[in-house]
Amino acid sequence: MKANVWTGRNRLEIQDVPDPQILNARDAIVRVTSTAICGSDLHLVDGYIPTVKKGDVLGHEFMGEVVEVGPGVRNLHVGDRVVVPFPIACGACFACEAELYSVCENSNPNAGIAEKLMGHAPAGIFGYSHMLGGFPGGQAEYVRVPFADVGPIKIEDDLPDESVLFLSDIFPTGFMGAEMCDIKPGQTIAIWGAGPVGQFAAASAFLLGADRVIVIDRFPYRLRRVQRTGAEVLNYEEVNVLEALRDMTGGRGPDACIDAVGMEAHHPTPAMYAYDRTKQAARMETERPYVLREAIMACRNGGVVSVIGVYGGFVDKFPMGTVMNRSLTIRTGQCHVQRYTEPLLNRIRAGEIDPSFVISHRMPLSEAPRGFELFKHKQDECNKVVLTP
Ligand code: NAD
Ligand code: ZN
Ligand code: ZN
Repeated sequence: MKANVWTGRNRLEIQDVPDPQILNARDAIVRVTSTAICGSDLHLVDGYIPTVKKGDVLGHEFMGEVVEVGPGVRNLHVGDRVVVPFPIACGACFACEAELYSVCENSNPNAGIAEKLMGHAPAGIFGYSHMLGGFPGGQAEYVRVPFADVGPIKIEDDLPDESVLFLSDIFPTGFMGAEMCDIKPGQTIAIWGAGPVGQFAAASAFLLGADRVIVIDRFPYRLRRVQRTGAEVLNYEEVNVLEALRDMTGGRGPDACIDAVGMEAHHPTPAMYAYDRTKQAARMETERPYVLREAIMACRNGGVVSVIGVYGGFVDKFPMGTVMNRSLTIRTGQCHVQRYTEPLLNRIRAGEIDPSFVISHRMPLSEAPRGFELFKHKQDECNKVVLTP
């Protein structure tokens, strides 16, 4: 089959790779009908997530048709249409029982590698490094889906791929980012990053009752897109973000701050950028945590900093004194997607939101490397790329 393969830093190729096979009783094989490129893929392609190897198939946002099931999968049948959550979860361990699916204790066969770096291992994730399981991803014609009786959610024929595909990742992720803010009526939520994840976080903050949402980015086309959710916007190349947020909130600061940017933040201040870029290039810190620092500094006393942007390893100059002395709460995680698929599908069905609003580019899987270039460099007003095998 054809798949989008990582062949080295910032190098991708469509290659012929072996067709996936059923290996365990609870596996299914899915023929991919739609897949997408995520901001998290960019961190992999850039080489900032450790343990990606040449030949790895990328992709963790996908849906399709079940073409084969193992004998342990009773709830799915050949021909079913399914959306597949990006974290792989067994459904029965301590973490899964607590609905903490992205830290499932049974789905990461390379837990030992992750334990060395992180203390304990998170779940396996499709197409997301060997430390997170080494599973071939969904930017391919077919995928093996482990624990297929737990994650995939069946979709009736009336909903098009484009309206449900993002239940695999970025809609639940944005929603969890907002949910972690514990929003009360009248509150103001600030969000760094007007990418697709920030856009879903903004829409979700309103669904959860926020009074005001303020989104920060530098690309006018993305700020215009997020304004359609009802959010106010700040261009950090035009204003001082900390001052502007203070002015907009009567001097107190936003009630909660969402980092929807992660480890490759762009820095408006050249000195700090040079510091983080140099240390990251020398592998002395793995992240460029400009946004994390700024979100912490901006948040009101006693507020919540919700981190859904992805971090891989170690950050420098982390303002712990601010977190401690101002009683901030930091909440974070890879999204526990399985927790949200059903309720968010219901919201789509009820017409509260149509997630296809984020799509800017559609192309065949064979053009995935070009899609990555557009998305990475924010060219041609690229917001979200959907690929069809
Ligand atoms: P994206 O690259 O499309 O968007 C990131 C946006 O951040 C860009 O528009 C960029 O201009 C903006 N940005 C960069 N520096 C900034 C700064 N200093 N201030 C404000 N904005 C800044 O990516 P995306 O697909 O929207 O994903 C966003 C983040 O969410 C990524 O880190 C991704 O890995 C992460 N993510 C996490 C999960 C999860 O489960 N927690 C799931 C999906 C994605
Ligand atoms: Zn993702
Ligand atoms: Zn589990």
